Amino acid sequence: MIVRKSKIEIEKMRRAGQVVADVHKELRDKIRPGMTTLDLDKMAEERIRKAGATPTFKGYQVGAEVFPATLCVSINEEVVHGIPSSKRVLEEGSIISIDCGATLDGYVGDSAITLPIGRISEELELLLARTQGSLYAAIAQSIVGNRIGDISHAVEAFVSPFEYGVVEDYCGHGVGRRLHEEPQIPNIGIPNTGRRLKSGWCLAIEPMINLGTHETVLLDDGWTVITADRRASAHFEHSIAVTDDGPIILTSRGDDPPGPWTPGTSPMA
Ligand code: MG
Ligand code: MG
Repeated sequence: MIVRKSKIEIEKMRRAGQVVADVHKELRDKIRPGMTTLDLDKMAEERIRKAGATPTFKGYQVGAEVFPATLCVSINEEVVHGIPSSKRVLEEGSIISIDCGATLDGYVGDSAITLPIGRISEELELLLARTQGSLYAAIAQSIVGNRIGDISHAVEAFVSPFEYGVVEDYCGHGVGRRLHEEPQIPNIGIPNTGRRLKSGWCLAIEPMINLGTHETVLLDDGWTVITADRRASAHFEHSIAVTDDGPIILTSRGDDPPGPWTPGTSPMA
């Protein structure tokens, strides 16, 4: 069942989303070579708790595995779900996906950005820009009357000129009182197929794009997903609400490109 959210619920989702946006803004400003991924995790947890929210990922269970941290931090060939560690030091020239979830007043915000550590190669810069571009192309399709296949196809079509690998093993999802709700939002798809979008749907859209193969491997820690060919991967995610006035970006950091969306404004206004 796909849960439709009321305007009041969407406003609550936006407030949760803004906690995540604040975490990302802080980490974007402070991230430096020499820090550890655990340093980032501590900063994120502190900021979330100060806002009166809780880290959604900490204690999240999949089968027998319990995720131990506030952030998923995934460096270079790591695609998603990397575990923060005091032994993992950030190195100049790397890229790091920082995926964060916060629960406030019973509602979840879920968003990811991939940041450069110091100076990175042009190849990686382009990968980041194009992956982020594919996210906004998908958000632009998140309008009442379109279908899920339109969102999925937008990601795939945006990156298709570049011969990247589009990750198929993991995908976006509905979001609300729970981190993962229906429907699933794949990053490849056929236009005009799948469920028709309805006002009040809240979706976490999250393209994961690889320099090389789309194929992934799960590491022995039970969480970390890497590319099968060990080439780099980028990941951008926003939680959005589908409304009669167009998509609202609930986890907006206020720096979205101009588009047919409402960046982080209140649906109550
Ligand atoms: Mg996420
Ligand atoms: Mg997600």
